[in-house]
Amino acid sequence: MSATLKHQLIVAISSRALFDFEEENRLFEAGDASAYMRLQLERLDVPAPPGVAFSLVKKLLAFNQPGHKRVEVVILSRNDPVSGMRVFRSAAASGIALERGVFTQGRDPFRYLRPLGAHLFLSANEADVRQALKLGFPAARVLTESARARDNHPHEVRIAFDGDAVLFSDEAERVYQAQGLAAFQSHEQDKAKRPLPDGPFKPLLAALHRLQTAGARAGCPMGLRTALVTARSAPAHERAIRTLMAWDIAVDEAMFLGGLPKGEFLREFEPDFFFDDQTGHTDNAARHVPAGHVAAGVANGEPHGSPMPAAAHAPARTAGAEAAPPSPPERSRRAPAAAGPRPHSRSAL
Ligand SMILES: [Mg+2]
Repeated sequence: MSATLKHQLIVAISSRALFDFEEENRLFEAGDASAYMRLQLERLDVPAPPGVAFSLVKKLLAFNQPGHKRVEVVILSRNDPVSGMRVFRSAAASGIALERGVFTQGRDPFRYLRPLGAHLFLSANEADVRQALKLGFPAARVLTESARARDNHPHEVRIAFDGDAVLFSDEAERVYQAQGLAAFQSHEQDKAKRPLPDGPFKPLLAALHRLQTAGARAGCPMGLRTALVTARSAPAHERAIRTLMAWDIAVDEAMFLGGLPKGEFLREFEPDFFFDDQTGHTDNAARHVPAGHVAAGVANGEPHGSPMPAAAHAPARTAGAEAAPPSPPERSRRAPAAAGPRPHSRSAL
């Protein structure tokens, strides 16, 4: 019988998101791929330090209990297979049960999200994240400089989400950007009882909700705590709350910050990860907590709104990347400036 990942929460993650390979990566960025591989090989028995998403991954995997496999984490990396050996060894040394990995040696890795059926893709490579989002997968570029998660809540995964253009579509964000705050508030008040369309991370929130429910039913010692952390303020709060009610998914905490910097509030919530579509917010958050940028919606130059969610099982679409030249492993490629307006030119939601 062949193996299956059905009914599990599947996280695809690059090696640089899981481990701190910044020192090694600097060699690569300097243009010396062979020196990079050599260094990884030399350090094969030196466990890599934890990366930005380490705490998130380790805690999610703790939902796996004897006889109950609920979470699968797969390394999806531009690294070469030799460097991949160090990733697996580092995982084993850290008590992270990794079994599967795809190492593309510079080629585009995101096409493998579909056969994996990933519910989340985390990578330090912005171009890969953008492609994953276009394909309909919840994806974020980890800020490798982020503060690491604290370990005050070892039995609780804590995840914080922005609302507009992350959990929700960017419909309201578009009104805000085009017409300003007063028009946005009145638009949201008028439509308070109409749920916002799904955003790129709705499928992840739904998958986490299923994990939480299954874990609790089976008496799993791991818990999950979620927070909505949004720059919305009253009266625009109501539509956000009603949207979650319509989804039948409750978040544990909701913060309507009305434009206050999110970082210090996140520091108190102590998430293992925070997702936002605005680089202004992720930069601020990364000073305090692990953060990832979701390059979706109008603030990131998306012309037609956020991608359709839940594409993990959608029919194949051409990624347009087959002919792309090989790219270096895990290299941070910033999107071209022509991709759209500056991410936080006048956006705050
Ligand atoms: Mg937003």
